[in-house]
Amino acid sequence: MIIFENSRDFAARLDREDPLARFREEFNFPLDKRGRSPVYLCGNSLGLQPKKAVEYVEEELANWGKYAVDGHFHSERPWISYHRLATQGFADLAGALPHEVVAMNTLTVNLHVLMASFYRPTPDRYKIVIEKGAFPSDNYAAASQLRVHGFDPATSLLEWAPPAGEELLRTEDLAALLEREGESVALLLLPGIQYYTGQALDMAAICELGRRHGCRVGLDLAHAVGNVPLSLNDWAPDFASWCTYKYLNSGPGAIAGAFIHERHTSPEEFLHGWWGNEQKSRFLMEAPFRPAKGAEAWQMSNPPILSLAPVVASLELFEKAGLDALRDKSRLLTGYLRWLLEENFAGRITILTPADAQGCQLSLIVEDGSRKPRDVFDRLVELNVTGDWRHPDVIRVAPAPMYNSFTDVFDFAERLELAFAE
Ligand SMILES: *Cc1c(COP(=O)(O)O)cnc(C)c1O
Repeated sequence: MIIFENSRDFAARLDREDPLARFREEFNFPLDKRGRSPVYLCGNSLGLQPKKAVEYVEEELANWGKYAVDGHFHSERPWISYHRLATQGFADLAGALPHEVVAMNTLTVNLHVLMASFYRPTPDRYKIVIEKGAFPSDNYAAASQLRVHGFDPATSLLEWAPPAGEELLRTEDLAALLEREGESVALLLLPGIQYYTGQALDMAAICELGRRHGCRVGLDLAHAVGNVPLSLNDWAPDFASWCTYKYLNSGPGAIAGAFIHERHTSPEEFLHGWWGNEQKSRFLMEAPFRPAKGAEAWQMSNPPILSLAPVVASLELFEKAGLDALRDKSRLLTGYLRWLLEENFAGRITILTPADAQGCQLSLIVEDGSRKPRDVFDRLVELNVTGDWRHPDVIRVAPAPMYNSFTDVFDFAERLELAFAE
């Protein structure tokens, strides 16, 4: 157990002892008009750009120019199988087998595509459970799936809510909800980490509850992947998806990841496109659909190579750094942030994120009645801190172990003090 200290020297010492410190140099930091980098704690929203991502995109742009259509088969890394360059990295991050994961589409699109397979309502079992305060896109996706199938979200979209007056979800309340309603529930669509509170949910327990009540389970891992350890093959949700532009640093709108548990292999269960056909017979145009093995069968279109290239670059960094080392650093880094906030801002800042279920992100509420929370946030922006604001009153800050330093965290605490003072 490390004893934290409230000093710049101490933060610098942690940086010197940090075995991952060198990865900071692999990233481009934004600069303000005076050429200064912000204290960037926004990897939960858009991760920084790996220098290697630029190189890999430029390589594929060059290959397109150099090979044109021949690039599909004869480029250095042929486009026909380029998506496989993400497979092992995704499998490691997701705790999955390689044939359970695939890079395709974007997150919300994947939720729909996977619900087309796994949300199969019947007159008796048709409801969807999401968490109260879910990310809007997940909410819209679930509600619109219900409507498409002729159900009214007002009665068919059930919310797993925290106890009255509280902000955090309790697994026992989901259990109680399913005791009451389980027989009519077709699907649980739930996050790994709740985007607003930063609470890491007990994904193993969620999957187990779903199974016990005969419901399908889909996990949205937008805030969990590249952040906390995942064991999807063991936990065995039916499906999961994640975007790659948050902790996975793959750029705005980058191609997403999807997981389909290995028990699902039936070609009847999904919407077909030519890229889901086995590679061998994909170009025999007259052939009937022969699904590729595993998750690859869910691909529809040939994937956007220019959007995959940064994913490939970024996954290489995760492999080099090591997921255990990243998680160890993350515990220390976000642990230090929590300690500084508790030490210096008691009575002014409340941390919404539970200490025993946190990843990188802490969600902060300004409690100091003399300051408007939004003013404090705006002042932080002026002081060159990048975090983000979530309506109505939460400031989210997320040190990313891949590129943030302990000095970043110390700088944040110092600037937060200034933001309160002025
Ligand atoms: C970031 C995020 C999204 C974004 O969806 P896109 O389809 O990638 O635009 C959706 N859901 C959750 C929970 C998120 O955190």
